[in-house]
Amino acid sequence: MKQRMIYSSCPHCGHDFQILRDTYEIADMNPTLEERLQNDSYFLHQCNACKKLYYLQYPFMYRNPKKKYILLYSQQESLPKFSKEEKVIRVKHAKQFTFAYKVLKYDLEIKKVLSIQNRLKNMYKEEVKFESFQDNTLWFQIQGEYIGVPYQ
Ligand SMILES: [Zn+2]
Repeated sequence: MKQRMIYSSCPHCGHDFQILRDTYEIADMNPTLEERLQNDSYFLHQCNACKKLYYLQYPFMYRNPKKKYILLYSQQESLPKFSKEEKVIRVKHAKQFTFAYKVLKYDLEIKKVLSIQNRLKNMYKEEVKFESFQDNTLWFQIQGEYIGVPYQ
């Protein structure tokens, strides 16, 4: 666990502040982190001034040595070099991070799940969120409802 002071500006009211956040985590070491990644609240922040919620942006690295991957949340164009033994998945948005986190957790293919998610998005014309995987079925949340799609 590595911590860093993050500078942020609320996109709703412009309030500037600093907050201490973890920037490096190892998989399965911190149950609270895993839970907050699973329910999409890890990067969510409530502004002290206007009380509105938004996603914080800062460099964050989640490493899973067992499954040999690194999930990187970074807005930078150039990325540091990593060892070739680990697969590096880089995302620029908090929602993409939690999406990739869940897909990797269930050992699924990012491309496949993404294409199913996009198909649902086009069908329902609503925001679609991948939630979980059980009995070979992908579960998505659309407007508070759960939709199951078989995974082949
Ligand atoms: Zn605010």
